Amino acid sequence: MNGATSNSPVIEPNETDHDAESRARSIRVLFSEKRIALRIEELADEIAAAMPKELVVISVLKGGFIFTADLIRALHRANFEPEIDFLKLSSYGAGTESTGDMNILFDLSANVADREVLIVDDILDTGRTISLARQLLVDRAAASVKTCCLLDKAERRLVDIQADFIGFPCPNEFVVGYGLDYAHRYRELPFIGVLSET
Ligand code: 5GP
Ligand code: MG
Repeated sequence: MNGATSNSPVIEPNETDHDAESRARSIRVLFSEKRIALRIEELADEIAAAMPKELVVISVLKGGFIFTADLIRALHRANFEPEIDFLKLSSYGAGTESTGDMNILFDLSANVADREVLIVDDILDTGRTISLARQLLVDRAAASVKTCCLLDKAERRLVDIQADFIGFPCPNEFVVGYGLDYAHRYRELPFIGVLSET
């Protein structure tokens, strides 16, 4: 038995996205686990070609934490030794629309003055979050500030901002998984998908 009981909720090592999708029946996969992993290796190479090795990576909570965790390990493979810090700005709460309110809910512990900074977030939507995060770091005298978002919903932009590094363009749908939630659920999904109507 190897210590595992027959009904333990262990995910089989060879489980496919399709199996996982069946377990979370109402989710349609948009970006599979494998596709995300491949793209992150490419992103790390793009960042390595454009940024100095002495980097502070700032993960925007909560949604950015899984992407950040995978990206920093890809950066390690690209010979980076980044310092990691966290920033939490006010989010959508339990709904799917932004209120436009934006507060610092959890501040950095690092002093970013004269440091090269990479802000990492899950998705660039209206642009308010990344724009505020960027301004905060500029105000604190970072030497340079670049931004990396796994997904880009360009159609939804209200603030004139682009990320320096983008994983995938994203259709104008509400996505969950891989750090992204709906009402505090689905962050743990290894893929990114869309909640179906049913
Ligand atoms: P923005 O400030 O660009 O409008 O929004 C960015 C934040 O809103 C993201 O970091 C994310 O937390 C949330 N967000 C935007 N679009 C989506 C989405 O489709 N799904 C989820 N779960 N969160 C989203
Ligand atoms: Mg977010």
